[in-house]
Amino acid sequence: MADGNLAASFRRLISATGPISLMQFMGESNARYYSENEVFGEQGDFITAPEVSQMFGELIGLWLADIWIRAGRTEPAHYVELGPGRGFLARDAQRAMRRYGLEPRINLVEGSTRLRDVQLEQVPDAVFHNDLSTIPMEGPVLIVANEFLDALPVRQLVMTGNGWREVMVDVAEDGENFRFVAGHTPMDSAVPEKRRDAPVGTVIETCPGAAATLFEVAGRLVNQGGVALFIDYGHVAPRTGSTLQAIRNHQKRDPLEAPGEMDLTAHVDFDQMAQIALSRGAKWIGTTTQGRWLTALGIHQRADALAGFAPHYREALLRARDRLVAPDQMGELFKVLALSDPDWPDGTGFDNPD
Ligand code: SAH
Repeated sequence: MADGNLAASFRRLISATGPISLMQFMGESNARYYSENEVFGEQGDFITAPEVSQMFGELIGLWLADIWIRAGRTEPAHYVELGPGRGFLARDAQRAMRRYGLEPRINLVEGSTRLRDVQLEQVPDAVFHNDLSTIPMEGPVLIVANEFLDALPVRQLVMTGNGWREVMVDVAEDGENFRFVAGHTPMDSAVPEKRRDAPVGTVIETCPGAAATLFEVAGRLVNQGGVALFIDYGHVAPRTGSTLQAIRNHQKRDPLEAPGEMDLTAHVDFDQMAQIALSRGAKWIGTTTQGRWLTALGIHQRADALAGFAPHYREALLRARDRLVAPDQMGELFKVLALSDPDWPDGTGFDNPD
């Protein structure tokens, strides 16, 4: 590894001031990772749904257009995407929305300057933001986040023989590698009372950045109208245990192995995300699986239609469709959470109409 890399600066920091929190390790690692690496696609480290097929972004664009039309076509509408990657989803959604007369301003929330340039190639009229605070306050927001929340840093607390402690990262005895250690500061007061009594080794994981994002998004929906879609892998029921993982070259790796050189992610706690949105007064349209949602939106018909235009690509199109919806591929693990302004109609593809 080259000198001056993130691992070397973590080592210096830890030797000067002691172990750092997992949250700091993950936050700085991912910021570096997304600003410097070829992340996406076959050549990169992983493939996301918008990279698998244009059908993904198109169906999202249609879903947004449908609900916007039924809500009364309020202008100016703002498409807001969090963590747009290479910009394929925004591009495909924009094309689909246009067909139905929806031409929202395109706002992309992206931390990496390198990725902003890549996104501009797909969506030349995009306006960039560092976070949600600069998104215009006038007009409904159509918010989309695919595999964004899972990249935000998590905090872990672990039950030890001495009570709850934060999970920290230290340098191992070899002076080179990293290892997990329990922090010195008692953290019992950070654990809800009903979960405090747990066997030694129990891990509770939270994502303060995801919680803050949901709080902010729900506030925007209530104040200016609109809808939000969060698509990610995660669990619907609350659970304990670490879900931290690292992906490099399409393979799972040790999360502490190479900070800044691989993607660190954690599962999204969808139940908690919905509770936060509800507590702020937003409507929870529902949470379903990606497979069920895309099927309800007509991905099978869309794949057949595209195959009709381009028979040579039939096999590839059907493979891409299966990758998005099959239960043993992305269909079950990935969930779709939809929220809206309480006055907006329900969106298609969720089983719990009110
Ligand atoms: N949605 C894309 C990319 C997912 S990867 C897709 O599905 O292909 C995560 C994205 O979130 C990247 O674009 C990354 O640069 C961005 N990101 C991660 N943390 C961020 C943060 N704190 N603020 C803004 N963008 C962030």
